[in-house]
Amino acid sequence: MKSGIFIDRDGTLIREVNFLHKPEQVVLTPGIQHAIRRANKLNLPVIVVSNQSGVGRGLFTSKDVDLVHNHISDLLAGDDAHIDGYFFCPHLPPGADNDSPDCTCRKPNPGMFQAAAGTFEIDFESSVMIGDKSLDIEAGRNLNMKTILVETGYGRKSLSESELLKPSFVCNNASTAIHFFLDSYETTLS
Ligand SMILES: [Mg+2]
Ligand SMILES: [Zn+2]
Repeated sequence: MKSGIFIDRDGTLIREVNFLHKPEQVVLTPGIQHAIRRANKLNLPVIVVSNQSGVGRGLFTSKDVDLVHNHISDLLAGDDAHIDGYFFCPHLPPGADNDSPDCTCRKPNPGMFQAAAGTFEIDFESSVMIGDKSLDIEAGRNLNMKTILVETGYGRKSLSESELLKPSFVCNNASTAIHFFLDSYETTLS
């Protein structure tokens, strides 16, 4: 079992765009390539966990989501960095469609995390979830992970929400958050 880095996509790994679904809309968070490459070199899986209800809403398809993820991987590859796994929930939020039952994969539910942990043999308690929304923090907290709220995307707004579960840490963006986590991870190695 090993530590892993779980990271939200929109507003965290890449710039927030409402219902982003085209590769050309992707803008990586500054410095994220170097942060991810550092994790790659330490053999820590970097896993994207993303709610994509636009699929369930019929705004775009799972194929569109895959193309966006391929583009993110291409951009990262230019700096010798890679994402180990992309997991996304295509379903509607609870209550949005009374004809279908709520899914177990939409954050803050644990489905995507459990699938990734099985594949990559990840130990949650020594891992981190990085995101910009309350549901990201809640998802990580539910699995006893460390949680980092970033101030990009909806992060600042989330900080002002009274229902925000307290994250373990707050960082200005996902690059800082990954480096911060890796700094403490490396001290556990020595
Ligand atoms: Mg987000
Ligand atoms: Zn789902």
